[in-house]
Amino acid sequence: MQADGSEVVLVDAHAHLYDAAFAADLEAVLARAAARGVRAVLTVSETLEEAQQILKLAERHPLVRPCAGLYPTILDEEAAAAMLAFIRQHAEQLVAIGEVGLDYWKVQDEAGRARQRAIFAQHIALARELDLPLNVHSRAAGRHAIAWLREHGAQRVLLHAFDGKASTAQAALEAGYYFSIPPSIVRSPQKQKLVRHLPLERLLLESDAPVLGPDKDQRNEPCNVWVACSAIAAIKGVPAEDVARITTDNARRLFPRCLP
Ligand SMILES: [Zn+2]
Repeated sequence: MQADGSEVVLVDAHAHLYDAAFAADLEAVLARAAARGVRAVLTVSETLEEAQQILKLAERHPLVRPCAGLYPTILDEEAAAAMLAFIRQHAEQLVAIGEVGLDYWKVQDEAGRARQRAIFAQHIALARELDLPLNVHSRAAGRHAIAWLREHGAQRVLLHAFDGKASTAQAALEAGYYFSIPPSIVRSPQKQKLVRHLPLERLLLESDAPVLGPDKDQRNEPCNVWVACSAIAAIKGVPAEDVARITTDNARRLFPRCLP
């Protein structure tokens, strides 16, 4: 509860709730998130099967906001085509397209990277056509992902857990893109530096659960977006409630369907 009596509302902009790590206790995980003021968890997919399951999950759990996209390390044209068809078919129910993007850490050969860029471009084109935002992964490829997004006219973009330099992020700010910050910021000088550089008006909170938690060896969960919120507040020198309010406003702007 804030000083003026209004409720603090948080949005987790990127999580993997259909992960095996949550198979046994998802109800409890979501209850803990709700108890901390989390009102939406954007749940991204990696495969078609997962995207289908996430849509069903969203029907049962009011916190789950479904996204669909083919994970960047899956370099399969047929899987991409099937995912694009699924997104088109369920566009009205989706909050965003994701998790899509570029991963040059895991894909190191040029032919593989070219296939990855082509599949990413197909998702960007569909996002534009359907007017859906993109929930974007970039690993060891920040500069390339931003350039590719801009080149293909992407307008509504979240760069999740961005691992690039603050100077690299500048081009994304100029394009109007947003960044989501995970709880691992407490142990990442790179993310702390990034937050110092980025304006609050372009920041969102994310968990990336079950990974990127405050403790590297422990399962992460959506209630930990508070950890990211507090860390951002400390860096920016503002109250955590302000960070909560501003990041949630940003989430509403970028993902209009994320909250009622
Ligand atoms: Zn992810």
